[in-house]
Amino acid sequence: MNHFEFAIIGGGVAGLCAAVFGGNKICVIERNNETGKKLLLSGSGQCNITHGGKMSDFLNNYGDNKKSHFVKPALFAFDNIAVTNFFIKQGIQIYHREDGKIFPQSMRSYDVREVLTKSIKEKIITNTTVINVTKNTQGFVIETESSAFTASKLLLATGGCSYPSTGSNGDGYKFAKSLGHTIIQPKPALAPIIIKNFRFANSAGISFRQVKIEIYRNEKRIHHGIGDVLLTHRGLSGPGILNLSRYVEPNDEIRIPIIDPKLESEIFRGKKILKNVLSDSGVPSRFVMQLLCQLEVPFDLPAAEISREIRKQLVSLSFIVEQIGNWNEAMSTAGGVAIDEVNRRTMESRIVPNLFFAGEILDIDGNCGGYNIHFALATGKLAAISATSK
Ligand SMILES: Cc1cc2nc3c(=O)[nH]c(=O)nc-3n(C[C@H](O)[C@H](O)[C@H](O)COP(=O)(O)OP(=O)(O)OC[C@H]3O[C@@H](n4cnc5c(N)ncnc54)[C@H](O)[C@@H]3O)c2cc1C
Repeated sequence: MNHFEFAIIGGGVAGLCAAVFGGNKICVIERNNETGKKLLLSGSGQCNITHGGKMSDFLNNYGDNKKSHFVKPALFAFDNIAVTNFFIKQGIQIYHREDGKIFPQSMRSYDVREVLTKSIKEKIITNTTVINVTKNTQGFVIETESSAFTASKLLLATGGCSYPSTGSNGDGYKFAKSLGHTIIQPKPALAPIIIKNFRFANSAGISFRQVKIEIYRNEKRIHHGIGDVLLTHRGLSGPGILNLSRYVEPNDEIRIPIIDPKLESEIFRGKKILKNVLSDSGVPSRFVMQLLCQLEVPFDLPAAEISREIRKQLVSLSFIVEQIGNWNEAMSTAGGVAIDEVNRRTMESRIVPNLFFAGEILDIDGNCGGYNIHFALATGKLAAISATSK
């Protein structure tokens, strides 16, 4: 049986970055015939590596305070400046987009994978699916479909459940659970939302810029945010919706006020024609026409003549959630290995010594904007440094 000082299961961003910083006696075991299949798809093949701005703001992109607290040591040890410098040193020029997203200048995720693999090619074992992991007094026994390896230290970097065609099908949760870890029920995140009896299918493609999005459950507001919303054929998408999808459940109500409440009384006061005042207040004109048609309101009606009931429906859109997009649509996984069982300063298990975790397998999911790849890079690096310095 081949023995490794440090074995990494999963050749995605987290596993590859760990291997880059993981010393010599290591291996990366990957089920696919190539590494980084999900990385290649990321950012529509352009790979949004990280996000600009202050790291203190960065921390607000992982959900609640408990999550921000957990991600802090890894992200601060390999922050957005360090990540971009790492790629620059490896010969990749960096493009800072106006919206804060950071990409390789070439806009090719392939180049990012090349940087992460060029120094570790001989350590990667592809076409090898791990089927079981156990621990004995010597270390870990990693069973694959055709053989077995042993390792003194082990990193689980098998990703979550999103985009199973890229190789991440939740296997890592089975391994973590069998070694004694708690798995928070995985659920699609960064996913579009399918709406019951969606009445705006004809408006698919229309988007609202930086609108308020509120999620209600049993009439109580449970979350809210601000972001862009895109109407699809089946419901809602766009960064604002994707970021909130981690909180949404079937039958929740999503309210999107499309008119700023501060402007409402002014808009509906004058003699101006309704169609024009709505468009002037920023609602996309194609949408205004469809909305007025649906509500059977004449386009040329003066705004002040609208009934209270119609006005309510014009000002704020309300949708009932049928379901969240499935694993083939979700770009991340909410849930995973419980973070209170992992040391945030080392990424080592608090339950099994010498077992480490990195990337999407953990119960952490970031917003759109490069926060997930950055988290995978930073936790991969931290796990590798911790494992090899033990
Ligand atoms: C379409 C899409 C676009 C995205 N775009 C962006 C973006 O632009 N910016 C951003 O920050 N995030 C983006 N993300 C999210 C980001 O890509 C992931 O969060 C990140 O790749 C997770 O890295 P990981 O290494 O933890 O897991 P993964 O990349 O999923 O890697 C896990 C690896 O483990 C292997 N594996 C799993 N089980 C086994 C097993 N039993 N045996 C052997 N190998 C196994 C898998 O084959 C896989 O290669 C995107 C996601 C998707 C789906």
